[in-house]
Amino acid sequence: MKKSELRSLKAKKAWVQDLIKVFTQYNSDPQCELDYDSPEELLVATILSAQCTDKRVNIVTKKLFKDCKIPEELATWSLEKIEAYIFSTGFYKNKAKSLKFMSQDLVDHHKSKVPQKLAELIQLRGVGRKTANVVLGECFNAPEGVVVDTHVGRLAKRLGLTASENPVKIEQDLMKVIPKEYWVRFAHWLILHGRGPCKSRKTHCEKCYLSDVCPSSKLNF
Ligand code: SF4
Repeated sequence: MKKSELRSLKAKKAWVQDLIKVFTQYNSDPQCELDYDSPEELLVATILSAQCTDKRVNIVTKKLFKDCKIPEELATWSLEKIEAYIFSTGFYKNKAKSLKFMSQDLVDHHKSKVPQKLAELIQLRGVGRKTANVVLGECFNAPEGVVVDTHVGRLAKRLGLTASENPVKIEQDLMKVIPKEYWVRFAHWLILHGRGPCKSRKTHCEKCYLSDVCPSSKLNF
């Protein structure tokens, strides 16, 4: 690694410590906003949350989880029946396939339980690295990476923690500077902040508690 990169890594680690202090002051225990009662249900909810609000997913899963045992029954439901339940979350045809085939994989290869290793989780059909890390972090406190969704990617860039637009590279950049014990919380903080003042199209820096320190604050210019 070049000296300049090392310096910048050191500076970023110090910056992350400052951010952790501020975030902790305002929200010491940020939580996942998806409703679930088991790792298997969270896996379903996380798959449904792609390109959809957590609020909408919670409406859909409330009925789905009441009517269907996850994953045993979901593995046997027809795609049409699953589609009818999840239609309002968008991309319902692909999501229905992911839910059915992921459930079949859990039943056939994992005794109907979510495996606790990233390598095994991403072998399940319809489960990517982001989804796997959500479940590992939330249910087992054993994340093997940082969850990078659209909010995390945008905020990481605005806060100067990455220069990349590529989720894989962003995750690598974040893993280098965020202490592992904060991987889950830091992603929650960025997601909540992205849903709050630091929206995609418009930032409300005047209402943001990071405005004094944020390198992208409109108030600094
Ligand atoms: S100061 Fe502005 S750009 Fe920076 S995190 Fe807050 S809302 Fe986003």
